[in-house]
Amino acid sequence: MSGTGEYLLKIENLRAFHSSKEGLIRAVNDVSFGIRSGESVGLLGESGAGKSSVALAILGLFERQSRYYASSAKSKENRHQWSLRDKARKEAKTSEDMGVELPGVEGHIWFNGVDLTTLNEKDHRELIGTKITYVPQGTSKALNPLLSIEQQVLEVFWAKFRDEMRVNEKLSMRVLEELDLVELGDMAIRRDMLPVNFSTGEDQRVLLAMALISKPDLVIADEPTTALDTAVQHKILTAIKRASKELGQSTLMISNDPSIITATCNKVGVMSSGMMMEFGNTERLMNEPVHPFTQAFLMSNPSFEMLRQMRQRGERLRTIPGRPPSLIDIPPGCPFNSRCSKATTICSEERPEFREIDTDHWVFCHMV
Ligand code: SF4
Repeated sequence: MSGTGEYLLKIENLRAFHSSKEGLIRAVNDVSFGIRSGESVGLLGESGAGKSSVALAILGLFERQSRYYASSAKSKENRHQWSLRDKARKEAKTSEDMGVELPGVEGHIWFNGVDLTTLNEKDHRELIGTKITYVPQGTSKALNPLLSIEQQVLEVFWAKFRDEMRVNEKLSMRVLEELDLVELGDMAIRRDMLPVNFSTGEDQRVLLAMALISKPDLVIADEPTTALDTAVQHKILTAIKRASKELGQSTLMISNDPSIITATCNKVGVMSSGMMMEFGNTERLMNEPVHPFTQAFLMSNPSFEMLRQMRQRGERLRTIPGRPPSLIDIPPGCPFNSRCSKATTICSEERPEFREIDTDHWVFCHMV
């Protein structure tokens, strides 16, 4: 994927590795894709495929989290790996320049023409919460139990306009508009209530309102409907689509559920073992997947529509045989080769190239 011009967000050769006593955990391994303005792109795949790590890298949180876990593990090897990373950074060198693979983030994350991997923590933090916002999965720890819903939504403005902000009726109306956009009922009365008075599904919509109120260019939603019943899921997904249509913002949706991606995204990237297996138009990819992993994943996790079609054809659900390789010890060649029914000798020897086989349709496979 060359040229950043047409993209709001463009990820190029992104790597995000954790350190561990046993070796580097390659959570994201050479991933590239782009999101244009107004587009909704989904990342789909098994858990541990690297989807959330891509989001954390964009948000500038991957390395912070990874260093934190490494420091709590109290291992010499971890400390050594991170000290090499710090040395490389001071000398503006990459893993390749140092001749050794290092933990942390490498590659490029272009956002509006700025490479986020080069920003310092302060500049990154100013962007997150204003131009790029995040809807996390699970709400139990995300809202402050002691602040009213209105205060929490207003806090987003507080972070943005710290100096000139006064809580006034105009801002309160803006909060109400946003809560209305995510279809929370009776908010003129309920906005002063604490989170304890709201259901989990309503909490999740408050978080979505907080992500939308600064009118960001990009909203990242990481499994925003996990553990919610179907009716509430539907409301949240409708709110995300409505917001995207009315406000024209782009969305990066992370999920392991093809139905959610189909309902909300016009493009999708399918990930496995930290790599992008296939990327393209959602409708085409869901109906005619060409990558053996995408085909196997969709046969084992079909969307409602696929399930209906499979039943009509008398087909059964099929799980993917075997287990994904360890991210510490990824075999040479294609990481799917031990589980792929189409694998040949080259698949275990050479890593496939991620190449465009049709306009905006990218595949990582020797046989396609
Ligand atoms: S490269 Fe080979 S092993 Fe990998 S998905 Fe394609 S056919 Fe299967």
